[in-house]
Amino acid sequence: MQKKDTFDSICSYCGVGCGITVKKDAKGVLSVTGNELYPVNKGMLCTKGKTLNYVAQDTSDRILYPEMRWSRNHPMQRVTWDIAFKRAAAVFKSIIEKHGPNSVGFYVSGQCLTEEYYLANKLTKGFLGTNNIDTNSRLCMSSAVVGYKKTVGNDAVPISYADIELADCFLIAGANPAWCHPILFRRIEKHKEENPNVKIIVVDPRKTQSCALADLHLQILPGTDVILFNAMARWLIEKKKIDKSFIQKHTSNFEAVKQTAFELTIRQAAEKCGISADEIRLAAKMISDAKGFISMWTMGLNQSVIGVDKNVSLLNLSLLTGQIGKPGSGPFSLTGQPNAMGGREVGGMASLLAAHRDLGNPKHRKEVQEFWGSTEIHGEPGYTATEMFDALESGKMKAVWIVCTNPIVSMPNAKQIEKALEKANFVIVQDISHNSETTKYADLLLPAAGWLEKEGTMTNSERRISYLPKVIDAPGEALPDVEILWRFAQEMGFHGFDYTNASQVYDEYCLMTKGTTIDISGLSYERLKTEGSFQWPVPSPDHKGTPRLFQDQNYFTSDGKAHFNAPRNLYNKSETTSPEFPLILNTGRVRDQWHTRTKTGKVKRLTTHIPAPFLEMNKIDAYIRGFKEGDVVTVKSRRGSVRVKLKINYDIREGVVFLPMHWGKILNNDFSRANNLTNNIVDPISKEPDFKYCAVQVEKY
Ligand code: SF4
Repeated sequence: MQKKDTFDSICSYCGVGCGITVKKDAKGVLSVTGNELYPVNKGMLCTKGKTLNYVAQDTSDRILYPEMRWSRNHPMQRVTWDIAFKRAAAVFKSIIEKHGPNSVGFYVSGQCLTEEYYLANKLTKGFLGTNNIDTNSRLCMSSAVVGYKKTVGNDAVPISYADIELADCFLIAGANPAWCHPILFRRIEKHKEENPNVKIIVVDPRKTQSCALADLHLQILPGTDVILFNAMARWLIEKKKIDKSFIQKHTSNFEAVKQTAFELTIRQAAEKCGISADEIRLAAKMISDAKGFISMWTMGLNQSVIGVDKNVSLLNLSLLTGQIGKPGSGPFSLTGQPNAMGGREVGGMASLLAAHRDLGNPKHRKEVQEFWGSTEIHGEPGYTATEMFDALESGKMKAVWIVCTNPIVSMPNAKQIEKALEKANFVIVQDISHNSETTKYADLLLPAAGWLEKEGTMTNSERRISYLPKVIDAPGEALPDVEILWRFAQEMGFHGFDYTNASQVYDEYCLMTKGTTIDISGLSYERLKTEGSFQWPVPSPDHKGTPRLFQDQNYFTSDGKAHFNAPRNLYNKSETTSPEFPLILNTGRVRDQWHTRTKTGKVKRLTTHIPAPFLEMNKIDAYIRGFKEGDVVTVKSRRGSVRVKLKINYDIREGVVFLPMHWGKILNNDFSRANNLTNNIVDPISKEPDFKYCAVQVEKY
C-alpha cells in the first residue's frame, strides 16, 4: 500500500525498468531509493537511477508555458494554452487541406508513456488520416521487432529476467550491458559469481566493461556478425549438436538456414570476422553444452544496414538448439529506452497498428477503424524516422510535431535534420526542457509534464507493465502529454477524444487488446496499483501474467511453428572505407549519460565519470598517425566533422574508432556531436539507421 509521502514508481531511463521508491518529506523534497520488493532490481539502482530525484527537482531548464512565433522572422512569445491549441489546429487543418494528410506527421519517443503513445497513434492514423507517426525507437529497436516477427510471429520477447538465474550460457552480442543496462548486468554478474561454470561470451569489436565477465570475447571486425552466427550454426549442425526433435516438431525452414550456414567454412568465416576458427568453435561448443542458453543484444546488431539479417541469424541459434520457451533460455533483445516496448505494443510506428496489429492487414485495419469509429486507415506505411526528415527537407511534408525527443542530436546525419527543420513550414516541439537543442527550431513550443508529474504505464524489456503515479505537480503551466494530445484532437473537432484522465486512455487500449496475442484486458490501473507489475498477456482479471512465452511451443505464426530465416546478406552493406576515409566509426553510450544529456547533463555527479566526449582509437592507429593520448583531433566523414580529445588503448580493434553519442552542441558549436558524422542509410526492411559503421578519417587539429 502506498502511503501519502511514499510512492512506488519506475526509473525513467533504460529499458531494464527498475522499481524505485520515491519519498517526499514535509518540505516536498524528494529522495529516491531502489524498491526492495520490485522483482526486476530488488532494491538495486545504478548511478543514473540513484540521482533521479535531482533531475526531477531541478526545474531551472524547464519549459514553463507555451511559446509561439507568428513567422520565422518573429521572436517566440508567451501564449495561453488556448491560443496554442487554436494555432496548432489551424495550421494542421490548413496544411492538410492544401497538401493532403501525408504532409503532416508526428515524431515521438520511447520515453513517452503507453497512454501518450496510444493517443498519438490514434490521432494520427485514425483521425488526421496519415500513417506518418514514427518514433526514436526506430533508431534502436526496429530490426529486433522484424527479427521477432519473422521468427516467432510477433514482436514478443519470450523470456524474463528471472530466466537469467536459470541459464548457464549467455551470448551478449553488440551490447555493453555493464554500462548500458547496469542492473541487468549485476544480476548476470551475481549469477556467475555463485555459479562459476556459467559461460559468458561477448561479441564486440571493442573490449568493453562487459568483457570483464566474459569467458570468451569475440572481438570481431565491425559488420561481420551474420558470418559469425552462421559459422556457429554450421558447427552446431556439423557436430550434430542441434535439437532435431524440436526442429522437426516446432520449426520450419531449417534447410534454408543450413544451406546459408554452409556457404563458408568455419576457417573462411573466422578470417572474415578477424578472429580464430577455434574461438568460433569454442563459442558454439559453450552454447551446445548449455542446459539454458540466453542470447542478449542491442544496438550493435540492430543499428545496421543489415540489422534484420543480424537479428535472424542470432535467433536461428536459439531454434537450432531448441533453447526457447524453456526455463533459462531464449533470445532476449534488450530495449534501450524505458517504454520502447510499450510504444511498439500500441502501434506507435509508421508500419504498425495498436495491439500488435499490422497496418498492411486489411482485417486488422478494419478492426481498429471500427473500434475507434475513425476515418479509413490506409494500408501504406507512413514515413519512418529518417524518411520523415527527408520528406521535410524535400517539401513533401510541411509540418512535424515532435514529442519528447531531440532529433537535432540523436538522428544520423544531424546536419540534414537541421536543414529539414529549417525547411519545414511548421514545427511543434512538445518537451520538458530547453536543454533539448530541437526546441530552438520550434514555431510552437509546448511545455510537457515530466516523470513523477503525471500518471501512466510503461513496459520494460521483459514485457513487464508497471504503473507510474503522479507524485509532484508540474512546474508552470506544463501539462501531461496525454492531455495535450486529447485537447488538440478536440480542437480539431475529432470525436472519441473526450477523456478527462490517463486511466480512461489506458482502459480503452486494454479493451482493444482483447483476444490478441498481447491481451491485457484483465489488467486495470487498480490491479497495477494494488498488486504491482505484470508481464503480458494478462487476459482476465484473475490472471497472474505470463513470465515466459511459448512454453507450449505454440508460436504466434500462422502455422504455430517458429520460423528459421536465412539471412539475405552475409556481408555488411554499409558505406565502404577508402584512402580518404580509412577508419570505421562506431558510436555508442557511456555509463553515466543518457541519450542527449538533457537530463543527466544536469547532474554534477554524473558528469564526473566521463566529463567530455572523446574518440577512442587503437594504439597502433594512433602511433601511425603520430597521435598521443589527449591530443585534440578532427574526425571527418563524408557528411561532416567533429573535434574531440583522443583516448588511446588496445581495447578497440585496429581500424575502428569509437565516439559517444550523447553530446550535442556545446555553446552553439557542434564540435562534439557524433551524428555530424553518421550516415542515414537504413536496413531496407526495418528502416533502422546504421549508426555503427561509417567511414572516417582522423587528423590532428
Ligand atoms: Fe534506471 Fe536502467 Fe539504471 Fe535501472 S539500470 S536504475 S532502469 S538506468
